[in-house]
Amino acid sequence: MTAPALPASWRLPFELAWEALRAGSRPIGAVLLDGAGRPVATGRNRSQESTAPPGQLAGTAIAHAEINALAQLPAGGRYENHRLYTTLEPCLLCSGALIHSHVGHVLYAAPDPYWTGIENVPGVGGQIAGRWARREGPAAAPLAAFSALLMNLWAMRHTPAGLGNQGDDSSASLARHCLTVDGILDVPSVATVYRLAFPHLHRRGPEGKSLVSPPLP
Ligand SMILES: [Zn+2]
Repeated sequence: MTAPALPASWRLPFELAWEALRAGSRPIGAVLLDGAGRPVATGRNRSQESTAPPGQLAGTAIAHAEINALAQLPAGGRYENHRLYTTLEPCLLCSGALIHSHVGHVLYAAPDPYWTGIENVPGVGGQIAGRWARREGPAAAPLAAFSALLMNLWAMRHTPAGLGNQGDDSSASLARHCLTVDGILDVPSVATVYRLAFPHLHRRGPEGKSLVSPPLP
């Protein structure tokens, strides 16, 4: 199977996610595009790092990719025509930051099982409902599965149980296999990793329950 390149809009978010993973932080990247489709801010998770560019967070539980991108927007502006691409569905914190930033549209590659039900938040009404960013996602199966794979790679390296909470068992198996590939985390570009993983990323059935194939032999 020939692996396509990452879709243009997702290249930079995934490069940032890969950079975060290699630096020891959770592999999530975010890119904000203006109304003309030009990138105006980027951010990545830096929760496990001690440094960040000026105006961004590192070393705290709230050093999220979306926060680090949105923090670069000057206050007082209106950004309803801006789009935020993020590799994982925004959490409650980042959804609140989207409201405060007046960014109108967010696209995410993979759902975040940790925040199941977050789509019900606008049901509280008021400003939350009125300014809740339009959410679009998850992306097509290979991208969603790739994001889940990166999250599982992180979980296996950094959580005591060594088990991911993304995707399903086959995603965890694929991540386990990837970690046996010598030097996998030294690969500088996420495009290479995506090409390697692509043959193993697909949707199994109409329910879309399983996002990745059985583990590599
Ligand atoms: Zn977040």
